[in-house]
Amino acid sequence: MKEISCKLLVIGAGPGGYTCAIRAGQLGLGTVIVEAAKPGGTCLNVGCIPSKALIHAADEFHKVGRMASGESRLGIAVGAPRIDLARTMAWKGSIVGRLNNGVAGLLKRAKVKIVEGRARFRDGKTVEVETELGLQVIRAETIVIATGSVAAALPVLPFGGKVISSTEALDLAEIPERLAVVGAGYIGLELGTAFAKLGSRVTIVEAQGQILPLYDSELTRPVARRVQELGVEVMTGARVKGLDGGALSVERADGSRTAIAADRILVTVGRGPATEGWGLEAIDLDRDGPFIRIDDRCRTSMRGVYAIGDVTGEPMLAHRAMAQGEMVAEILAGHKRAWDRVAIPAVCFTDPEIVAVGLSPEEAARAGHAVKTGLFPFQASGRAMTLEREDGFVRVVARADNHLVLGIQAVGAGVAELAASFGLALEMGARLEDIAGTVHAHPTLGEGFLESALKALGHAIHA
Ligand code: FAD
Ligand code: NAD
Repeated sequence: MKEISCKLLVIGAGPGGYTCAIRAGQLGLGTVIVEAAKPGGTCLNVGCIPSKALIHAADEFHKVGRMASGESRLGIAVGAPRIDLARTMAWKGSIVGRLNNGVAGLLKRAKVKIVEGRARFRDGKTVEVETELGLQVIRAETIVIATGSVAAALPVLPFGGKVISSTEALDLAEIPERLAVVGAGYIGLELGTAFAKLGSRVTIVEAQGQILPLYDSELTRPVARRVQELGVEVMTGARVKGLDGGALSVERADGSRTAIAADRILVTVGRGPATEGWGLEAIDLDRDGPFIRIDDRCRTSMRGVYAIGDVTGEPMLAHRAMAQGEMVAEILAGHKRAWDRVAIPAVCFTDPEIVAVGLSPEEAARAGHAVKTGLFPFQASGRAMTLEREDGFVRVVARADNHLVLGIQAVGAGVAELAASFGLALEMGARLEDIAGTVHAHPTLGEGFLESALKALGHAIHA
């Protein structure tokens, strides 16, 4: 048995954990990070990156398919596309591999010691890790828990056989002929759309009254329309009852039952914290529902133990985990930091994409604000026309009295890249006049942001 001591021990090398460890290393804190699987966590290995790779491959395949069937207005003709899924998956795997090595390299450069194996708490200062070389005991002044999340299972539809989570969906050997998706949230819609473009017949079952219930219906309407165009059947207000002779048994909103034949059933009904099976009960931290409770410095109920990322609850997004990780490292190095971010952008990589930062019009009204909103439709954008994608809009929400921007949302092809300017505007406390007073390059989709602000001010030029 080997023993080491360190200033900081980080458990889990996902976006939260590796960012925390790298920043701590840069700040000169003796840091050890333990990872049971590969560096990069859910996001890099089985989440953000592989899903966006598959979505890109599906988009390309679908685009060529449209050209082959004579649907392109650009005068481009090609033969019918074929896809070699094994090569697609190998390409996806090569991106993941490059990034795994990249994260490991960044940790080493920051002089962070990486221990491979599953950590288990002995007490609030001591963790043991079963490594290939035997048991490693690590004593630390401070421990950061960054163990992330796992896919939530439905008791009536446990994982196994044809019932799969996103992890298996991102590693399929064949494109399923018939795919049923349970849950029309982020993963269900992103992957459901990708498989529809790859040729699967997709049915999506959602318990709530609309797809992507997290967003308002104005924002999700273009996505619902596109999903319908792709031939995806969407059943909202429907409840899954289990498997019935291999088919998915579903109770519709009106109480009637239907059976959906499917080769694969992808269950995407949310994710839960990774808190089980590694001795967390030994230190008995306060919980917020199933998640670890934290304060505005990511401190848990035990002194010297912090928690960051998905294990601490919504929003379960990689960039939130990273921002928390960086903040905690700086706090441990003695900097005065607390969570004071105005907003965390959310991007849904559907077709078209959705971006939301800050408050929607309804949320602003519920918070008691009198608001002005401005909406610029991409139908009026020259850039959107040249990209053959006029669906969607940019919408800005501001206080009626002083025009402080409270929220910005957009839906449209490629709008994910606008998240940075939307986030910056909110974080810098921009008013409508600041956006209107910024020269936006032409022709870009970003001009929609300028135009939405002008619209809210009552003098839009192009709409
Ligand atoms: P994780 O990334 O879950 O990392 C936790 C790490 O801890 C894992 O590597 C795990 O092996 C390790 N670990 C757990 N327990 C132990 C232990 N006892 N000992 C040692 N190691 C341990 N978010 C976005 O922002 N954008 C997206 O586009 C996006 N797409 C997604 C797509 C899918 C299909 C999924 C599933 C998720 C997606 N997410 C996305 C969410 C994103 O992946 C998570 O928010 C993010 O990974 C959380 O980071 P984390 O560091 O908290 O935890
Ligand atoms: P989600 O919370 O986004 O969506 C789950 C959906 O399942 C909801 O619409 C919910 O109403 C529905 N649902 C719940 N129980 C159901 C049932 N019994 N029958 C039918 N529908 C049911 O969860 P997810 O899609 O699994 O994603 C998990 C997390 O991963 C998200 O919270 C998100 O933070 C993260 N993620 C983010 C991105 C991104 O940022 N682009 C992409 C993928 C995942």
